[in-house]
Amino acid sequence: MNNELVSLAKQFRISVLSSGKYKIPGGMSASDCLLDVLREEAKLREKRVAAERLKQARFPTYKSFKDFDTDFQKGISDKELEQLENLEWIDSLYNVILIGPPGTGKTHIALAIGNKAVEEGVKVAFHSMDTLVHTLKTQEISAKSKARVNYLAKCDLIIIDELGYLPVSQVEANLFFGFISQLYEKTSVVITSNKGFSGWADIFGDAVLVTALLDRLTHRCQVIQLSGSGYRVANRKQIFKTEEQTKA
Ligand code: ADP
Ligand code: MG
Repeated sequence: MNNELVSLAKQFRISVLSSGKYKIPGGMSASDCLLDVLREEAKLREKRVAAERLKQARFPTYKSFKDFDTDFQKGISDKELEQLENLEWIDSLYNVILIGPPGTGKTHIALAIGNKAVEEGVKVAFHSMDTLVHTLKTQEISAKSKARVNYLAKCDLIIIDELGYLPVSQVEANLFFGFISQLYEKTSVVITSNKGFSGWADIFGDAVLVTALLDRLTHRCQVIQLSGSGYRVANRKQIFKTEEQTKA
């Protein structure tokens, strides 16, 4: 390719041409060729934006709806999972709160929602309650935290995992309440918790604050109660072979 063309493509950040590898399709008119370049560039940019969206979501692992076994978990049906998966509730600014004992699939469903949403072009952020509170607490002293808080403000879906595993101080409770209030009727929130609402006053140490918090969170909300003994225990994998496996 022409050197000047490559250098100008670099200047204007047209990646399709700046690599110098673009092959002009044979027999194409000049305008069709331009169209081809711009189409390729648009595809490339969309891919880049999607990769960045996924990176910023900070999912700890990949989980999907199709891997969720509703025979094992009776707290949610296939029909209900489908309704979660179609994501229409995000447009209507609904929240989802998943409650249940450890290992019942709360985080799995939250991640499946998150991944599907990112695929559909939704701006998503995933945080454990712990890292979220840390980010909120340090935003005045850490540029990284400040940038993350600014990113969260632009998200359409925020997933908060493991509310209730660790106690929350008064300062943290107030920060969290302020955060949820800002999102109210602007952003969909998914929360997972091992404790039912009646246990939230203990987590936050403030019954009045929890009433106000739940008032906002549950105004438009689907509460999903999962139950059972937990998938991990039922499907425990071990390194050591059992006697039967050794014999076989
Ligand atoms: P929780 O967040 O409720 O503690 P997780 O969602 O982390 O539980 O589930 C623990 C593990 O078991 C994960 O690897 C998850 O993918 C798996 N798991 C839980 N429930 C199911 C289910 N119903 N079908 C398939 N995998 C499940
Ligand atoms: Mg979990």
